[in-house]
Amino acid sequence: MTALEVRGLVVTYGAIRAVEGVDLHVDEGECVTILGANGAGKSSTLNCLAGLVRPASGTVELDGNPIGGLPAHQVARRRLTLVPEGRQIFSALTVRENLLLGGFCRPQGELDGALAHVLEVFPALSPRMGSLAGTLSGGEQQMLALGRGLMAAPRVLMLDEPSLGLAPLVADQIFAVIQEIAASGIAVLLVEQNVHRALQVAARGYVLELGRIVLEGSATQLLGDDHVRMAYLGHGLGDDE
Ligand code: ATP
Repeated sequence: MTALEVRGLVVTYGAIRAVEGVDLHVDEGECVTILGANGAGKSSTLNCLAGLVRPASGTVELDGNPIGGLPAHQVARRRLTLVPEGRQIFSALTVRENLLLGGFCRPQGELDGALAHVLEVFPALSPRMGSLAGTLSGGEQQMLALGRGLMAAPRVLMLDEPSLGLAPLVADQIFAVIQEIAASGIAVLLVEQNVHRALQVAARGYVLELGRIVLEGSATQLLGDDHVRMAYLGHGLGDDE
């Protein structure tokens, strides 16, 4: 079943056209990646879907219900959840407080269970619950950002560069969790600079260039595509390099 359906999405910043009519969909339980060079419009797409930027045109449906143009807090209530680039955790709040903020739209009675679930997914956060988030390592901060996203009980979880700046082994842990999240039935839309890893985790992908989708296909098709290999996997670079 389609969880997220986007048609003709256009995002502009004044005269700059960052996204030029993007069509994409993500099914429930599916992990889909958006590939593209710096400035291709990947973050603009996610930020717009999350309600942080209003679309200039296009439609967005979550489980068949239109949500395009809603402000971010209303999008979050509908359980389309963004884990933003750079994590954006609240350094001066504790880990627990950060997680609880992620559950802001859930009934009070669900929060203890939701916290317990996040700690099952990320046991490393357990001893740090009372610590200020700013004292966590980069990997722990990414776990916290993902955990905060899970606190919202997402239907669709959008991840913007979750492995950025992480050591390869820590990135491995994060990718394993992303796969588990999709396997649990959540639709995952992943933007990731490590194209090789993104195509290992995702079932399908879209290639975005200058705001347009120029190629789409299964991860296997994209891994074997000459343009993808030259432009995004080139120079013999592969995993974790
Ligand atoms: P990156 O990997 O560098 O984050 P990206 O694919 O996510 O790249 P975007 O950040 O969406 O790309 O940027 C797409 C285009 O929109 C770029 O030309 C960028 O300079 C421009 N842009 C992004 N955000 C803004 C903004 N707030 N104001 C003006 N222009 C912006």
